[in-house]
Amino acid sequence: MIKTKAYAALGAKEALGLFEFERRDVGEDDVLIDILYCGICHSDVHQVRDEWGGSTFPMVPGHEIFGTVSKIGTAVSKFKEGDHVGVGCFVDSCRECSACKDGEEQYCEKFSVYTYNAFEKDGKTPTQGGYSTKIVVDQNYILRVPSSIKPEEAAPLLCAGITLYSPLMKFGCEQGKKVGIVGLGGLGHMGVKIAAAMGARVTVFSHTEKKKEDSKRLGAEEFISGLDEKKAENLEGGFDLIIDTVSARHDINLYLNLLRRDGTMILVGVPDGPHEVQAFPLIAGRRRLAGSLIGGIKETQEMLDFCGEHGIGADVEVIQPKQINEAYKRIVNSDVRYRFVIDLADLSGS
Ligand code: NAP
Ligand code: ZN
Repeated sequence: MIKTKAYAALGAKEALGLFEFERRDVGEDDVLIDILYCGICHSDVHQVRDEWGGSTFPMVPGHEIFGTVSKIGTAVSKFKEGDHVGVGCFVDSCRECSACKDGEEQYCEKFSVYTYNAFEKDGKTPTQGGYSTKIVVDQNYILRVPSSIKPEEAAPLLCAGITLYSPLMKFGCEQGKKVGIVGLGGLGHMGVKIAAAMGARVTVFSHTEKKKEDSKRLGAEEFISGLDEKKAENLEGGFDLIIDTVSARHDINLYLNLLRRDGTMILVGVPDGPHEVQAFPLIAGRRRLAGSLIGGIKETQEMLDFCGEHGIGADVEVIQPKQINEAYKRIVNSDVRYRFVIDLADLSGS
């Protein structure tokens, strides 16, 4: 077994603190990764605070993992020692169902093994995430990170990047399309960068005025703050796509009304309660409301290569592990520009 240092939550109401546990030994298809950076996703906060229910503790969160390969199993052909690699939200799946065969393992019909707050295939060994010094993952669930992306800026692509890239691709984002991004946080800012690189005309919807300048720098043409019924009446609308990344409850009908005929609104944010959806905004214009969950391994690799070619990384604030609890508070207050990334190098030496 491999001794691993980490930061973990021992319960839903507790602060994260130092924790030690053991990873499995490197099996024939496994890769041992020395973790250098791990992003903090709002999903980490939701799960540590048990806002979705069913959280298990101790929990080492983290599914935006960047590291280098330090050991490979005897059957590993895809990676070698020293490679720059990433691990995202899941580390295994059934590999047999139609979703897995289609390369959409995130929709596995039997079980996706999530990177943390879940159990390995044996159904009893807890998985633990990337706020740690090492991780052992099957070679088929590891991504190759292009050298043109800085390691700390690459980590958030493994969740925030793919969660926006996948629906943008699936729902036809391309040159000249009008795309709205609701919420300029970790996910939202990646959506702006990626949609702009695909040639879309991007509008950011934010709940305050504070991020106006940033939105332009990130690639948006338009910025709208504090959307309410009155403001919405005076807007042009005509959006082909609107992707909603907001982590709290809010009125989504305002946005549905801004879609063009046959336009689609895609929910990726996961608030702790249901949205109220009115029928009229959907009926008037044959509009669609959809959802999307991260992306499969093949598509995640495609996204990383796209970001490598277009020079896209996340805007990050690098922190030390002891600052994680403070970072959580700032995330909940929408006070992060635009992703906290934990530097894990010192934890290995401590
Ligand atoms: P984040 O960095 O905290 O960003 C969320 C943004 O939502 C904030 O920056 C803020 O943007 C807006 N917001 C927050 N509170 C609000 C409020 N009370 N009213 C209106 N707007 C508010 O979070 P994230 O990491 O991007 O994650 C966003 C959500 O997506 C989370 O619920 C997370 O669990 C979920 N998620 C889903 C997937 C998936 O596969 N579908 C993957 C990863 C994460 P403004 O300041 O611009 O308004
Ligand atoms: Zn995430």
